[in-house]
This record gives sequence, C-alpha cells and structure tokens, in this order.
Amino acid sequence: MNNDNYINFLDLSDNAIKHNEGPSIFSLDNSELKNPYINPNDSSKLGTALCRTIENLDEELNKFEKNFVNKHNTVFWASDYEDVFDNLRIIFKSQKVRSARLPSINASTIFREIGLKYFLKQEKIELTDSGDVQFFNVDMLLPDTGSLLLLNQTNNSFQKLSNNTTNIFFTTIDRVLPNINLIDIYRKIVTYANGAENQDMVIFKGSPNCNNYLFIVDNRRTVFLQEKPLRPALTCVNCGRCSDVCPVLQTIGNTPYNNVFTGPVANIVLPYFETFETYLHVLYACTLCGRCEEVCPISLPIRDMIIASRQSLMSNDIMEKKDRRMMAALRKFLTNRSKMNASVFNKKHLLMKYISSDVKKSRRPAQFCEESCAKMYQKNHGSEE
Ligand code: SF4
Ligand code: SF4
Repeated sequence: MNNDNYINFLDLSDNAIKHNEGPSIFSLDNSELKNPYINPNDSSKLGTALCRTIENLDEELNKFEKNFVNKHNTVFWASDYEDVFDNLRIIFKSQKVRSARLPSINASTIFREIGLKYFLKQEKIELTDSGDVQFFNVDMLLPDTGSLLLLNQTNNSFQKLSNNTTNIFFTTIDRVLPNINLIDIYRKIVTYANGAENQDMVIFKGSPNCNNYLFIVDNRRTVFLQEKPLRPALTCVNCGRCSDVCPVLQTIGNTPYNNVFTGPVANIVLPYFETFETYLHVLYACTLCGRCEEVCPISLPIRDMIIASRQSLMSNDIMEKKDRRMMAALRKFLTNRSKMNASVFNKKHLLMKYISSDVKKSRRPAQFCEESCAKMYQKNHGSEE
C-alpha cells in the first residue's frame, strides 16, 4: 500500500478511517452522522469558504485541473449536455463500450440535469451491474490535492472504482471545496438530506490501472455568475433544510417546477439555468418570510437574492413591458397608505384594475383583511401603544 496516495486528514480521528483495498481510495465510517450536531462556527466557516471560492472560481478550478491531470487523469470541460454527449461518443468508440454501470439516478442531480440515462438509451448502451464503464457523481472537487470527493457510495461501487478499466466522473463548475479540512463539516451538513446509513465517502485521486475521465459541466452557470449579488446561490450544498420549512413548498409540494432543481434556491437559479420565459414565475413563488434563511447552515441570504433577482429582471428588460408597468403600478398602489386604508371592497376593486388579464386567469385574487394590522392590534391590546 503506497502511503503517498493517502490524504492526511488533520481533523478526523484515526479510528474513523478505514482503508479500502484500492490504492487511492478512502472510505470513512459515516455511522456517527445519523443525528449530527452542527457547530454553528464550523458551518459558518464552510459558508464563508464556499462564498470566497465562488468569487475565485477560475483560480480554484485551474488549480484543481493541474493537480488532477498530474495523476494521469483526463478532464473535459463541457459547456452543455451536447458537449458532454459528443465527448462520450468518442470515449465509447475508442473503448468499444457496450454497457455501463450507473448509480441510482435519483441521487445524482447532474445525471438528471444532462439527461444521461436517455442518452445511454439512445446510444444503445446496456445498463448492467458490471458495465464496460462506470459513471460516478462527484460531490466536490478538491483543488488542494487534485482529488474528487464522492459521498453516498456503496462499498460495492468503490470496489469497482479501483478495478474497472474506465471510470467516468461528472460534476458542475460550482462544486469546489477549497480546503480538505472542510470535508468533515460538509459531509455532516449534507447528511441531513441524504441519510447516513450504509453509505461511504470516497476521496479519489486516480487509480493507475484505470482510464479516469472527469466531465466538469457549465450548463449556463457562467451566465448566472455574471449576476454578482446572486452568486452565493451556487454555494448551496443541497442539504434540504430550507425546503422543509418553506411555507410555499409545503403548500405546492417539494418538486413543483418539473425540474431537477428544487427548494428555495431553485427560485433563484432556474430562470438563468433554463429560460426566463419558462421559469420567470418561480421568482415570485416566495413570500419573503425568511424561514429558509433561519435554518440554512451556511447562512445563505435567500431573501436578498430573490429580491435582487426580481430587481434585475425589472431593470434588464427581461420582463415584458406590460408586466413591468403592472409591477410599477402595483408597487405605487400597495405602498400608498390612504389606498390601503380604503374599504376591502374598494381595495379589491382597485387592485384588479392593475392586474393584467393573463395573470388574473392563472392566479387567485388577493385577499385583504377587513382591518389593517394597526387597527386589529388596537382592538386586541387597547390603544395605549
Ligand atoms: S423566504 Fe421564500 S423561499 Fe424562503 S421560506 Fe419564505 S417563502 Fe420559502
Ligand atoms: S439554501 Fe437550503 S439546501 Fe442550500 S444549504 Fe441552505 S438550507 Fe441547505
């Protein structure tokens, strides 16, 4: 066993680490993560580090590539799924690939995002347990060491990782963990969504007898990065805590957008990752109540980002002129005290004048209370305050 292949985990106790047979792979015992306590200082350290990384993404990705390629691995930078498929066809042809092993598709957002399963079907690649190639979803790139962090691997799959002749890894450009000492807190946080039992974590630096290809997919993330106030959204670690408390998602269900992206962060990224025409409305599926921010372990400013995104749509002519006029008129109306003091009947009547007919068709009319909050407070508590 070559010790040079092993990463020195400064913050993980020795007995938590067990070695796999393969030369460059670690597996950690995750059983202690069933109910992990998250130290707020640690999670804030992670959040800060991820935000800093998103601001210096090009540097971190270059560093990662340099270290990863040094170990005889190959990196493909793919702008979109077509780019991925073109390169996969070349690999399949050169390696005479007829079958593939795919991990559970539900657990792998990137596979669903690019539609890998449909592509494999189209190419007549048979899905088997011992395919000619094996696909892996990479949770995080580790630029420090040029390694890949793979969570939720079964023992079976990482045994194959070292024996298979061709391993194909997928991730997106925003999945970068800048420091290996953050791995422990990262896995504790994401375990909330994934569960911990019977799962292992693998740090993969390359295996000498295998062909290792890594696809790093953009899929419009570089377009999204141009919106500076929205960049923190790309640091979301998909732990799922926010979805569990969001009153909108509790009402309309956790996967309402017919898309692989879910949760409050989907409201921010979807119009950019997909098209504004199709996903503009999701920006307004938020009451700005802030519950998501209260539970987010890395303190993502979700409300601020949703507001910034709405402002950007208003000022960049992305929203149609008639809709912008409607929003401006609504703002004037809803922030006018004398109009808000009018009777419920009048308020409803006035409001409907500002709403365009297509919006009226798809939305329930707004409901006003009989009395203002101030009046109700006075009624319940007397007028001393
Ligand atoms: S601020 Fe918006 S996204 Fe966050 S919990 Fe409230 S409604 Fe949901
Ligand atoms: S935004 Fe939601 S899913 Fe993302 S890290 Fe925060 S709580 Fe977790």
